[in-house]
Amino acid sequence: MIIVLKPECTKEQLQSFKDQLTSDYGVKVNIWEGVHSTVLGLIGDTTAIDIDYIKAQDIVDEVRRVQEPYKKANRKFHPENTVIELSNGLKIGDGSLTIMAGPCSVESSEQICEIARDVKASGAQILRGGAFKPRTSPYAFQGLKAEGLDLLKEARKETGLPIVTEIMRVSHIDMFENVDIIQVGARNMQNFELLKELGKTKKPILLKRGLSSTIEELLMSAEYIMAGGNDNVILCERGIRTFETYTRNTLDLSAVPVLKSLSHLPVVVDPSHGTGKSSLVESMSMAAVAAGADGLIIEVHNNPKKALSDGAQSLTPKQFDHVAKSVFGLKNYLNSQANK
Ligand code: PEP
Ligand code: MN
Repeated sequence: MIIVLKPECTKEQLQSFKDQLTSDYGVKVNIWEGVHSTVLGLIGDTTAIDIDYIKAQDIVDEVRRVQEPYKKANRKFHPENTVIELSNGLKIGDGSLTIMAGPCSVESSEQICEIARDVKASGAQILRGGAFKPRTSPYAFQGLKAEGLDLLKEARKETGLPIVTEIMRVSHIDMFENVDIIQVGARNMQNFELLKELGKTKKPILLKRGLSSTIEELLMSAEYIMAGGNDNVILCERGIRTFETYTRNTLDLSAVPVLKSLSHLPVVVDPSHGTGKSSLVESMSMAAVAAGADGLIIEVHNNPKKALSDGAQSLTPKQFDHVAKSVFGLKNYLNSQANK
C-alpha cells in the first residue's frame, strides 16, 4: 500500500502516523521524503487495513493498494489449482470438464427424475435444480422449498448424481446439510452474513458473480467464505448487467482467464443465465471451455415451454445432449493439444 501525505504534514504528525500503522497493523513503513510531498510504502500484510480509514486521516492526500485485498483466494499465496472433491469422488478443477445440468426450478418428482436421467446419460456429472428461488416478482413461482430439496435427493438416489442447489438464508444451512454443493446466487453474492456462516461449514460452495459485481468483489466474497475456514469455493461467471438488452445479461468470458490467473479456485460458467436464450447456450459453452473454464452449469428442462422459471434459456434434453457432445469433444481436443 502506498500513502501520499499532504505537503503540510509536520514531522511529529508523520512520526505518530508511522508508529500507529506499525503498531495497529504490524506492517513495516518505508518513508520517502520528496520536495513537495512525503510518500509512505507499507510492507507486509495490508489486507486488514481499511483504505477508507486511511483516506479519512487529515494528513493523507492519496492511498493506493499495490497488492490485492484478498489473500486466501489469491493465487500468489497458493500457486497450485484448488481441486474440490465431492463425496462420490468427483473432482472439480483437476483439469477435467465438469458439467452441472438440470432445471432452473425443481417442479415435481417426475420432472426432476426424468431430467436427471437424461442429463446423466449425456455425460453431466452433477444435477442442478432450484428449490428456493430468488424471483424478481413476489408473485412468480418461489420454488418447492423443503419439498424441492427432498425431490433433488430422490433424483440423486435414483441416478447417483451429486446435487447443487441455491441457499437464500442463514437459518436454512442445517436444511442443506445433505446437499453436495451449496449455490450462493448472484443476488446473494454480497450477503456477507450468509457467506460468513457458510465459511464455518466444510461444504463446497458455488459462488455466483453478482449482477453488477466486479471481479475483485467476487473474489472478496470468496474471501469471506475462506476466511471462516472453508476453502471449498467454486467461482461462477453468470453474466453481468450492461447497456445491452438483446441478451438477458452480458456473459463476461474474459472473467474466466482473469479469475484463473488471480485465483487458484475452480471457475465455472453459466451460459444459461449469461445469455437468457437457449439458442446461445452452445456457442457460449464452447467459448467458455476454450477460455479455460473448469465447468459449466446449464439449465435443462423436459418441457421448456411449460417451465415454471427460465424456460426461454432452458435446453431440451436432446439439445443438451448435443451441447455436451460438443463441449466434451472440444475439451478432449484442447487436452490433446496441451499434451503435445
Ligand atoms: C439460478 O441458478 O437459477 C439462478 C437464480 O442463478 P443466478 O443467481 O445466477 O441468477
Ligand atoms: Mn434460473
